[in-house]
Amino acid sequence: MNKRTIAILGATGSIGTQTLDIVRRYPDRFQADCLVAHSSAEKLFDLVREFRPKVAALAAEPREIPEDVRFCEWIFGPDCAVKAIQAAKPMDALCAIVGIAGLDAVWAALDICERVLLANKEALVTGGSLVMEKAAQLGKPMLPVDSEHSAIFQCLQARQENPVRRLHLTASGGALRDWPKEKMRSATVRDVLAHPTWSMGGKITVDCATMVNKGLEIIEAHYLFDMPVDRINVVVHPQSVIHSMIEFEDGAVLAQLGRPDMRGPIGYAMGFPERIPYGAQPLDFAQLGQLTFAAPDGERYPCLKMAQDALRAGGSLPVALNGANEVAVAAFLREQIAFGDIAPIISEVLEKTSRSEITCIGDVYAADAAARVLAKNCVGRLSC
Ligand code: NAD
Ligand code: MG
Repeated sequence: MNKRTIAILGATGSIGTQTLDIVRRYPDRFQADCLVAHSSAEKLFDLVREFRPKVAALAAEPREIPEDVRFCEWIFGPDCAVKAIQAAKPMDALCAIVGIAGLDAVWAALDICERVLLANKEALVTGGSLVMEKAAQLGKPMLPVDSEHSAIFQCLQARQENPVRRLHLTASGGALRDWPKEKMRSATVRDVLAHPTWSMGGKITVDCATMVNKGLEIIEAHYLFDMPVDRINVVVHPQSVIHSMIEFEDGAVLAQLGRPDMRGPIGYAMGFPERIPYGAQPLDFAQLGQLTFAAPDGERYPCLKMAQDALRAGGSLPVALNGANEVAVAAFLREQIAFGDIAPIISEVLEKTSRSEITCIGDVYAADAAARVLAKNCVGRLSC
């Protein structure tokens, strides 16, 4: 079998290392030709030693490149991900850089690679219509890696020509799901990072606790599946066993179930259309006992409605929501602001943003920059 070459953008992160776990299991099938990370140089050196890519890249230049990893081409700087895929020209790009910082790489991967395997949801939240238009024009598949979107994509394989009435996105509720609402405001970084079912990077774990993550995922689903916001339902499902569902006109619902293990959706995208086992234990339904569901509590999770409203308004507002959230989450993780400040910062930025059209990637970055200025002002005012 011919090996599929793959770039792993965000190779040292949660998604990146789980992707490499699958590459490690199937050395005859995949070749990690290009590894990109931000600043975790030592971790990347180890991965380069093990996977021997053609190209490796770091956004922040390290002090020294060890002798034994100099066999590959090294690229440094903020635009290293784009340059690295241009140099390696892999068949697939697994886009798992966190935040809008990954948008350029998704854009370039569409030009260079045969397929884009997308974990970096912020690229679609901010550049959604442009990215999907480009993918359609070039006829390049965008294979979702986000577990909910992978679940929907998997269910859609059984759709035939039938229209889909609604999408149901499941949400774990995050680390503070069972906390009294009045205590949530002062949750510490440690409290928020203790996710009950998924083990993920810091930013997305905070996003789960505010449920901005589900808001971002509504926007992501809107673009990936061309579904209006009012036909995307969110349901809290604490066990994280049903990864999401599609509903047909006759009321029939298809769901995709599995353990909460990101190697499931990552492997599905890597092997598509073939399923490749990654060593997960089968689900034991008798042991699970029950699966439960609840409507999201709007008071506990105000960010969810903000995201729905931003998507309804369209234009620059989803970009502003994302930019404000990135600034607020980074400030919370630095312990500059309280957990309870994140939602009001996003709300204030959205209120102060006047909607503009997004017609090119430059418009996305302009809207993002404007939102970041507003959000940083809020952080400055609120800093503890
Ligand atoms: P993470 O913080 O664990 O890893 C991020 C990776 O991106 C790291 O390797 C980091 O070095 C790299 N990176 C960050 N900024 C960069 C830059 N400017 N240039 C080059 N590399 C850069 O994050 P994660 O949890 O793996 O999430 C990655 C993306 O996948 C996010 O968009 C997230 O929303 C999405 N996602 C993650 C999960 C999950 O289970 N972790 C699930 C669904 C979706
Ligand atoms: Mg998800």
